[in-house]
Amino acid sequence: MALNVKRPNGTQDVVPNEAYKWHTVESVVRDSAAQFGFKEIRIPTFEETGLFVRSVGDTTDVVQKEMYTVSSSGDKTYTLRPEGTAGTIRAVIENGILNEGLPQKVFYLLSCFRHEKAQKGRLREFHQFGCEMLGSASPAADAEMIALVHIIMQRLGLRNIELNLNSIGCPECRAKYREALKAYFEPHRAELCPTCQERLEKNPLRLLDCKSAEDQAIAKDAPLITDYLCEECSAHFEGLKKNLAIMGIEYTVNPRIVRGLDYYTRTVFEFISSDIGSQGTVCGGGRYDGLIETLGGKPTPALGFAMGLERILLTLESQGCEFIEEKTCDLYLASMGDKAAEKAVEIASRMREEGFFVEYDLVGRGLKAQMKYADKIKAKYVVVIGDSELESGTAKLKNMASGEQTDISLGDGLLDDFGAQYYEMMLSTDEEFRSFVESFGDGQGE
Ligand code: ATP
Ligand code: MG
Repeated sequence: MALNVKRPNGTQDVVPNEAYKWHTVESVVRDSAAQFGFKEIRIPTFEETGLFVRSVGDTTDVVQKEMYTVSSSGDKTYTLRPEGTAGTIRAVIENGILNEGLPQKVFYLLSCFRHEKAQKGRLREFHQFGCEMLGSASPAADAEMIALVHIIMQRLGLRNIELNLNSIGCPECRAKYREALKAYFEPHRAELCPTCQERLEKNPLRLLDCKSAEDQAIAKDAPLITDYLCEECSAHFEGLKKNLAIMGIEYTVNPRIVRGLDYYTRTVFEFISSDIGSQGTVCGGGRYDGLIETLGGKPTPALGFAMGLERILLTLESQGCEFIEEKTCDLYLASMGDKAAEKAVEIASRMREEGFFVEYDLVGRGLKAQMKYADKIKAKYVVVIGDSELESGTAKLKNMASGEQTDISLGDGLLDDFGAQYYEMMLSTDEEFRSFVESFGDGQGE
């Protein structure tokens, strides 16, 4: 059968058998963010276009080429969020969150939309986990954000990830650097791509972020921002490095990182994986001290990062990392005949109330096919209910891993019988469960 509608280019389906990989990453990032005091924020999928133009910047690739924008009635246009920071800051200001005590720390898990050339690690709809901290100018805050990413990478078991660090200064040092860049690129003007020719006037820093190979070759010997930092920005950068040293986090200073979004000031950083090819930046972030004021809030220093979850998953898969396995069915109730099927419904509902994961036949299969299905869904136990089991009120409980069979009551004793078997099985097969139980074992006084 040929499907006549296909998934849009640059999008992905997460099929049910793959979802556990996402759940692994999501639970690690959520738990880690919570440990650092970040709370979740949820924002709309689309915003007024002007929000992104003003924050991400009208000379960036994102705004110039990649936004999905629709016009609605009237003269307003709306854009599917290409990133999470702008909407988050808009929401923080609009909801008065900056009045609730600083620093405020928020995180998000959301989809982003960019009209890019789709390829491995570069999608048109992708997902980000991001954190934003508002209200601290201290380099300790920059180090804290990096430490959070670092611990997430560690918990996921990722290897070969390098942290690249830079400072792109404040508007004052940037003004001098801008002139130096202009003077450097001016003689090459004619060789630059048309977009960069325009950027040379409006925002020469952006020339360093151009993806064209010719432009990158020209930019190779461009002046370095680190030679133009003012005293305060240098001290801030040194403060960050000192904090990273205290935490034992390794980094490489890379004076060529500018990041693709205009709102950054001072610290910028990238975590780069060497195992997934050219789209290796798995996380990018930095400080954006001017953004809140630009969007109409009171001047507040702030910073954040965003992690590309598809790229994290690609790296995890390429390195053969372990994922948290999805729960499987505790008990499958196989039945023969209408009465037995009714009993299965009754037992399933009792056991689910107790928190067990229980399934039974819903398609009218024969016993053999039911057993095959139980095997396929990796059920831990199976009970077969037929006429004689209904009559005697007991049945055989089969442990699918060991093949061992025990008697189990189908009446009042059901939960006790099943519970006892289940407990023993978990003790002998689940290390985490065993150590959990043992932690209560000694010193309880009995
Ligand atoms: P790149 O240089 O790869 O285009 P970027 O500078 O545009 O990245 P950011 O806007 O900082 O990226 O987004 C943060 C993270 O989101 C990136 O480090 C990356 O992991 C992920 N990301 C960005 N664009 C895409 C995309 N089109 N598809 C998948 N992931 C992406
Ligand atoms: Mg990009």
